[in-house]
Amino acid sequence: MRFLIIGGDAAGMSAASRVRRKRPDIDVTVLEMTRDVSYSACGMPYNIADGQRSIEELVVRQASVFRDKLGVDLRLGHRAEAIDREAKLVRGSEASGQGFDCGYDKLLIATGASPHIPNIPGLDAPGVMALKNLEQGRAIKEYLASRPVKRAVILGMGYIALEMAEALRARGLEVAMVKPRPELLPWMDRQLASTVYDELQAKRVEVHAGCEVQEIRQAGGSYEAVCSDRVLSADMLLVATGVRPNSRLAEEAGLELGPAGSIAVDRSMRTSDPDILSAGDCADAFHLVSGQRTWVPLALRANRSGRAAADAVAGQPVELPGVAGTAVFKTFELQVARTGLSLDEAAQCGFDPRGRVISAPSRAHAHPGSSTIQVFLLADAASGRLLGAQMVGREGVAHRINAVAVALQAGMSLAEFAQADLAYAPPFGPVWDPLLTAANQLLKAL
Ligand SMILES: Cc1cc2nc3c(=O)[nH]c(=O)nc-3n(C[C@H](O)[C@H](O)[C@H](O)COP(=O)(O)OP(=O)(O)OC[C@H]3O[C@@H](n4cnc5c(N)ncnc54)[C@H](O)[C@@H]3O)c2cc1C
Repeated sequence: MRFLIIGGDAAGMSAASRVRRKRPDIDVTVLEMTRDVSYSACGMPYNIADGQRSIEELVVRQASVFRDKLGVDLRLGHRAEAIDREAKLVRGSEASGQGFDCGYDKLLIATGASPHIPNIPGLDAPGVMALKNLEQGRAIKEYLASRPVKRAVILGMGYIALEMAEALRARGLEVAMVKPRPELLPWMDRQLASTVYDELQAKRVEVHAGCEVQEIRQAGGSYEAVCSDRVLSADMLLVATGVRPNSRLAEEAGLELGPAGSIAVDRSMRTSDPDILSAGDCADAFHLVSGQRTWVPLALRANRSGRAAADAVAGQPVELPGVAGTAVFKTFELQVARTGLSLDEAAQCGFDPRGRVISAPSRAHAHPGSSTIQVFLLADAASGRLLGAQMVGREGVAHRINAVAVALQAGMSLAEFAQADLAYAPPFGPVWDPLLTAANQLLKAL
């Protein structure tokens, strides 16, 4: 059997390795348009923060390992351009411009996502960067190393933008962030979002929320981001205004699409064509709380869905339950986490959501070094079901969110979650864990 994979990062290479391990009789070919495979995109902001570290450290497995140890026919510099479902082949071109055809019995589309670049005049200037793949990470590092860069403007205020604000401050740059919507992290409870805002202020990051950049002008060797009421000057600009699924190949081949234009897949990663699967950031998933199709482009899902696609191709399909949208990131000293639905999402899904914010200490009473954890917990007033959580704090947030993620997967009610037997010792939290305090407070409000 010929198994062809388009895209050689988390989802694609997870699938390639697993099929070769489980079914050495299956021929696996991977088409990857860049010269990189299998690297940690998530590590890029932290690597960029340190001018001494090589970005090549982020490569998890070299291409030679896939070729020599696993017997994967890995073709770098090969861009897939069209899928011919009748003839069961993929057409494309090599970096040299030469065209190629590649046949398949089973095809996996694992093309990931691309940065969304807004339609702003001047965004094609050389000092305007985006950060999605290793090539772009290298370009940012080279840019910072090769000239005096004193000030950066970041378009966008999502998690990659916030991680990069921290990274560029660590490199000694002044940083300004700008976006059209007035709210920082619009999915987040306002009280928690204002804690994130305060952290950015404390770290001297300028936040220009509610400002639409209308044009990027070049001024000598630097740039100006022109808004209606202000001009932000910079030596570099980073566009971090979200990502979009790379689903064009699937769409042009007539496959069904899901939310946000992602590729619609079932729980075994099959698309609307039984011989074509899709996994990772280009594909959709089922939400564990709403049961609806959703698009959550994150690393665990990419790896897990790549493995599931491999199992399907190897003849042992698994049914993935779905995603809760669990995510965590760091902005300077703050840990920020979420799982499940936000208040707006829950209302849109037909729930009657009630939320409560509580503040609790991160360590037991009188234990030194304690800070505040804010928890926003959300439940459905009609059924009592737990719907989601958000958390902000200087410690104890990143992994605490996982308890809620598991409760959501188990379909727990708020009352059941309030009875969870969570661990306690003074350095790690109070006897009543902040999550339990939040659950008990919300129970009173339901
Ligand atoms: C800066 C940054 C930080 C992140 N931090 C986190 C984090 O902390 N936690 C988390 O969960 N997630 C994080 N993510 C997201 C995570 O990296 C992605 O979810 C994951 O990489 C998705 O893997 P993928 O294989 O689906 O897609 P991708 O990694 O996008 O890989 C797709 C591959 O397909 C190739 N490709 C696309 N089109 C074609 C074509 N036509 N022909 C051939 N090849 C093609 C691309 O070149 C690419 O190599 C981060 C992402 C970035 C950019």
